Amino acid sequence: ALPGASKPPWLRQRAPQGERFEYLQGSLRGLGLHTVCEEAQCPNVGECWNGGTGTATIMLLGDTCTRGCRFCAVNTARTPPPPDESEPEHTAGAIAEWGVGYVVLTSVDRDDIPDGGAEHFARTVRALKALRPQTLVECLTPDFRGDLAAVAHLARSGLDVFAHNLETVERLQRRVRDARAGYVQSLEVLRAAKAEGVCTKSSLMLGLGETDDEVIDAMLDLRAAGVDILTFGQYLQPTPAHLDVAEYVPPEKFEHWRRYGEEVVGFRYVASGPLVRSSYRAGEFFIEAMIK
Ligand code: SF4
Ligand code: SF4
Repeated sequence: ALPGASKPPWLRQRAPQGERFEYLQGSLRGLGLHTVCEEAQCPNVGECWNGGTGTATIMLLGDTCTRGCRFCAVNTARTPPPPDESEPEHTAGAIAEWGVGYVVLTSVDRDDIPDGGAEHFARTVRALKALRPQTLVECLTPDFRGDLAAVAHLARSGLDVFAHNLETVERLQRRVRDARAGYVQSLEVLRAAKAEGVCTKSSLMLGLGETDDEVIDAMLDLRAAGVDILTFGQYLQPTPAHLDVAEYVPPEKFEHWRRYGEEVVGFRYVASGPLVRSSYRAGEFFIEAMIK
């Protein structure tokens, strides 16, 4: 823990601005689309929305999770409201009309739904690709309780990137994530998605007390599971009831892991920085990764 420690200057948030940002924010009104970018007041919204391929994150399947991870501020319940059956088509229509270049579809964990929501995701992808095929689609998914058939089903939906976050190193999984999640299970999910031939992506938070050797082992395991793109960001405690920050990792260390990941471990792309989130400038990075 860092009692009373104030955040270092590199974590100061930047106010979003820029022409494309203004345009997308204006055209969002009235579409009934809720972006995580705006709702979570993400500090990257200016960079993501203004990027060469603008990126936005949309939450499917409601705002209430059946799990409770110690780093996450999402609401929790054993039985959240049932999914809105019209959400896939409505969301796809709104995204197509909004016109963002790269969309990240994500959700809470829905352990109460038989397939964990995989078909709900897949329906959204199919509807969006039918309406606006040029939209690049990433699905940032739960682990579907290790249901690899659900993973394969979603990976075959026409999405461009299958993302699932490992979150932290092996030793800290129990402390950080819900007991139903796990290191091996998440690697299996990523391996099953890769087996369908899609681009895969994962993310690790730093500052939870991990050692350098543990970070290297996690990178090697992710690469062995076929993961193409990796992101690193600083863990930030959402409320005092959540897990303490063990360390504010300096920007130079993030840069070290970026180079190590690309040059030593062999990821196609690594995005790494204190404020990087798994969807940070994902559109631009995906395109750079694909032409490498
Ligand atoms: Fe939106 Fe993700 Fe970018 Fe934040 S990092 S602005 S949530 S796309
Ligand atoms: Fe948050 Fe995902 Fe954990 Fe649910 S499963 S509490 S949404 S991190």
